[in-house]
Amino acid sequence: MAQTVSPPATDAVSRRQQSWVYFDGEFRRYQDARVGLLTQGLNYGTGVFEGLRAYWNEETQQLYGLWFPEHFRRLHQNARTLQMRVPHSVEELCRITTELLRRNQSRETTYIRPLIFKSAEEIGFRLHDVPDSFAIATAPMGDYVPTHGMRCMVSTWRRISDTMAPPRTKCTGIYINSALAKSEALQSGFDEAIMLSESGNVCEGTGENIFVIREGVVTTPPASDNILEGITRRGVMHLFREELGLDVVERSIARGELYLADEVFMCGTGAQLAPVTEIDRRTVGDGEPGPLTTRIQHLYQQIVVGANPKYLEWVTPIW
Ligand code: PMP
Repeated sequence: MAQTVSPPATDAVSRRQQSWVYFDGEFRRYQDARVGLLTQGLNYGTGVFEGLRAYWNEETQQLYGLWFPEHFRRLHQNARTLQMRVPHSVEELCRITTELLRRNQSRETTYIRPLIFKSAEEIGFRLHDVPDSFAIATAPMGDYVPTHGMRCMVSTWRRISDTMAPPRTKCTGIYINSALAKSEALQSGFDEAIMLSESGNVCEGTGENIFVIREGVVTTPPASDNILEGITRRGVMHLFREELGLDVVERSIARGELYLADEVFMCGTGAQLAPVTEIDRRTVGDGEPGPLTTRIQHLYQQIVVGANPKYLEWVTPIW
């Protein structure tokens, strides 16, 4: 009997299993890098991670790592918060990641996930006097969120505050907060959530920082409003100042300002530059990505693939 043979959905899985990762001092196959069920980092969320991207430039056949030193510096700082020590310097981490991408023959846009976690396999949690494991894995990644116009909702979940756990760090456990808001948004038919702080100010997306533009004034929430101090955010602020001659005002933003904005966009390593065209069923501006957002987005898209000579120091050629 004739059977329809669907393409093996297992392709990506087996590719991942065979891919190289860096784990506790050596390069191994993904399938050979395992953790035990009682690992503290898995049970209690006691880990710190980073997210980097390397962009494939089809024209020049080159892969460009974006802001590698900045991400690894943040990893070092964040690890200290959880009383961990990353076993490599920033320079070594850049070298290891480059080698990893080469081993994986990465010739497409790729996400890079460094992770340090409490590796003791025993019941009970604490930060001090527990061994750490350190890993880096990679995975091909296109758009993480729509980049042509996102529909967002203001989440019913509030962004975690620094009185509970440090929101400036990329601690794994803290991401339950983002996951709750993300699922609520997606299951309600939106693309992304906008989270408010405990005091009701606009904070950020679930994995992105947010910018709000009104009458030519660009604003973004300050670090003191419990945001993650995004590396993309910093780069975007630089581009506004240097390329568009516009200052970015860091100040608390009220929810109602979202509805009055001419332009809103989110940014992050995963999200890249993502215009927001609808919030809580109200169109932002005229419902299309705004002119300033579009200009920044184009600049960003050029820079990340090493196509803007002025910003070559932001990227590391891998090949
Ligand atoms: N906020 C949160 C909660 C995030 O997880 C991220 C992604 N790291 C960002 C903002 C954006 O940060 P970055 O630009 O450094 O990727």
